[in-house]
Amino acid sequence: MTLARILHLNGIAATVFEREEHALARPQGGTLDLHAESGQLALRRAGLEKEFLRIARYEDQGSRLYDKDGRLVLADDDDSGDRPEVDRSALRDILLASLPAGAVQWGRELREVYARPDGAYDLAFGAELLGPFDLVVGADGAWSRVRPLVSRYRPQYSGLTFIEFGIDDVDASHPALSELVGRGKIGVEGDGRSMIVQRNANAHLRGYAIFRVPADWAQRTFDFTSPASARARLIVEFEGWAPELVALIAASNDHIVARAIHALPIGHHWPNRVGVTLLGDAAHVMSPFGGEGVNAAMLDAAELARHLVEADDWTQAVRLYEQEMFERVMEPATNAAEAAATELSHIGLELTLEHVRQHAEMRAEMARAG
Ligand SMILES: Cc1cc2nc3c(=O)[nH]c(=O)nc-3n(C[C@H](O)[C@H](O)[C@H](O)COP(=O)(O)OP(=O)(O)OC[C@H]3O[C@@H](n4cnc5c(N)ncnc54)[C@H](O)[C@@H]3O)c2cc1C
Repeated sequence: MTLARILHLNGIAATVFEREEHALARPQGGTLDLHAESGQLALRRAGLEKEFLRIARYEDQGSRLYDKDGRLVLADDDDSGDRPEVDRSALRDILLASLPAGAVQWGRELREVYARPDGAYDLAFGAELLGPFDLVVGADGAWSRVRPLVSRYRPQYSGLTFIEFGIDDVDASHPALSELVGRGKIGVEGDGRSMIVQRNANAHLRGYAIFRVPADWAQRTFDFTSPASARARLIVEFEGWAPELVALIAASNDHIVARAIHALPIGHHWPNRVGVTLLGDAAHVMSPFGGEGVNAAMLDAAELARHLVEADDWTQAVRLYEQEMFERVMEPATNAAEAAATELSHIGLELTLEHVRQHAEMRAEMARAG
């Protein structure tokens, strides 16, 4: 939608085909921090700065690290940073509202892309074929149906599985948990387990219990058709942790789901193919530890749009976009892979602390350098 919006602003027609039936078809996932140089930059280019400021939660940028006994080992409650949190559904709403009617076609699940003899492409949705399109941009996530046209790679399981849970109305119903998490997010590590809990808008907490396990472990271990049983089983996994941390799981609502974390290889790239490209997770899905995925996807969109708008030759614009994007994602993809590899190691907490400190130093250095 970011790409479609910037193209529309510049008089280039674009249609978004989305498999979900409507905007409220499913919860969109956890809160995001939008970075100044990527997510926020894209929204500025999309002319949506004012709308962004209305949904940005600068007050929720805090970060705390606990050990499994509930001891606070690091706290950063500073809310003066430039990485405000936004809820995914609120972000999607502002993009959706900015597009002309009909620019997003809901309930369209892409099955396959067909190359036509004239060099353009047709898109198959069920039995229906739509086209021709000059440029097909696969912005369809980790399991992209567009990617096979340019690349043979598929994301690999990282070894980490997240079990997602959520706590509603936390300030009124669970004040002690609200206090524990504070304004932002907490991380906890110990005994080969870890937990991240983040504050979303509307007094909602979203948590991830993190395990290094085989890819089918969650489906074998939990009965997700019975939230009460899944919750009880999850609590068993955290036996020996401080009661106030286990209480986070006990307070969860019934939305308990497993997310096996997958990633494409660092440096994933493909030879340019005229009329087809990828952005976001379709191009470079990575583990979520760096909090870069949405930011990188939105920057891809803004950069592809910029090249298309500025170029005389749109095929050259796509080539340039790809070259720059392949370079640009090397660093975040490397960092994300490193974080996934060290998470839950025998010295996990120590490594996380080191990582957080390095990051803080880097940010301070960047701020000093202006
Ligand atoms: C547990 C977890 C936590 C995360 N936390 C963060 C975070 O804090 N910060 C951050 O920046 N990133 C985070 N990420 C990563 C982030 O979610 C992704 O990088 C980001 O959503 C990628 O955006 P995208 O638009 O490329 O793909 P997606 O968000 O996956 O969007 C793809 C869209 O395409 C649609 N689609 C898919 N297939 C088809 C089809 N065949 N036909 C039509 N439509 C289709 C989907 O329905 C979806 O709407 C997290 C990821 C996970 C798993």
